[in-house]
Amino acid sequence: MTSKVYIGLGSNLSEPLMQVKTAVEQIATLPETVLVATSSWYRSKPVGPQDQPDFVNGVAEIDTTLGPMALLDALQELEQKHGRQRLRHWGERTLDLDIIVYGELSTTLPRLLLPHPFAYQRGFVLQPLAELAPELQLSGKSVSSWLAAVDTSDLRQIGA
Ligand code: AMP
Repeated sequence: MTSKVYIGLGSNLSEPLMQVKTAVEQIATLPETVLVATSSWYRSKPVGPQDQPDFVNGVAEIDTTLGPMALLDALQELEQKHGRQRLRHWGERTLDLDIIVYGELSTTLPRLLLPHPFAYQRGFVLQPLAELAPELQLSGKSVSSWLAAVDTSDLRQIGA
């Protein structure tokens, strides 16, 4: 069965825009997966420690028959390929890939919480997601209505 999945991308190290754009190309080559659309890219202030560079964020939409765990494994492998290290909680990273929504699936597994627990609170997720799927239901409300309720003043669109 094919599932529609939205993946959040973020980077604030080693040429962030290049990191996320390369990651999208790599996502497009995952097995059993078709890249449907990519949002614009946004610059955002870090959540957590402020003594780190701004992030570049965006969202990719895919159709896939990979199961949720196989997809998570593949995305974590991509993070590793980009030299990701976990230096500190909410800290800087070369590439962060989060599964925001996987079809209608809802899970509470520690390794895979779906929908992503912070997605509906974060402008840097909601703004690009709203470009692709404003009516998508996320934790009981549409993406566009969550977006209207969050502060997006720190977001700067930096291109498609
Ligand atoms: P982070 O440091 O924010 O990238 O968190 C990474 C951890 O979150 C990994 O151990 C993942 O297994 C876990 N995780 C839980 N839910 C998700 C999700 N929806 N997408 C990606 N990683 C997730």
